[in-house]
Amino acid sequence: MNSEPHVTVQAFALIGPSGSGKTTLAKKLLNDYPTIFSFSVSHTTRPKSKFETHKIDYFFIDHKHFKKMIARNEFLEWEEVNSNLYGTSVKQIETILSDGKVPLLDIEVNGAERIRKYAEIVLGRPFSFTPIFLDVPCDVQEMRIRERKRGETEEEIQKRLKRYEMENAKKHSFDHIIPNINLNEAYTQILESVVRPRLLHRQEMQTM
Ligand code: 5GP
Repeated sequence: MNSEPHVTVQAFALIGPSGSGKTTLAKKLLNDYPTIFSFSVSHTTRPKSKFETHKIDYFFIDHKHFKKMIARNEFLEWEEVNSNLYGTSVKQIETILSDGKVPLLDIEVNGAERIRKYAEIVLGRPFSFTPIFLDVPCDVQEMRIRERKRGETEEEIQKRLKRYEMENAKKHSFDHIIPNINLNEAYTQILESVVRPRLLHRQEMQTM
């Protein structure tokens, strides 16, 4: 059904600063609704950590490859984050849509703004994009970043903390701002006030 070009397709993104809980909440949605959502795997030039898997967490590619993809207009959006490039490919989104699934993105705010503005033009079809900003106080953010033990250096952690101000300052340009101090409460709010009302046509959303 979703491969029909006139049908409005949906996509959701969990957005917000590093440490706001995007990845944890995305995993929970994907786990609870595997027949609805599919994770949009981004491309990145960031080195893969030992906890990550190529093609599952990211497509880990080198700078040259990323630049080639930019030149060929293969990205729906891309952004430099902490000296690394990250991008959502058009192909990734189209593959998910052609499977009849709803793309779920985990991206930062500038990328979400670009998708909101240009995705419909790039994809050439009605596209309803719902970014959900996860709002955390900066001390909670710092605690989460330090707790996640990704093997990052203090310098890398400091870079992540610095982006907090920029991302937080943009939160009011998004319609859905969900406080995420308590993960379960945030999850319920995302599901009940944002996701379920938009996906009521999916049987899986009516039964749970
Ligand atoms: P991390 O290095 O922690 O995996 O990601 C750093 C930041 O980049 C996070 O805020 C993450 O959500 C964001 N990010 C991941 N993929 C993309 C993407 O494709 N586009 C944009 N704009 N941001 C991304």
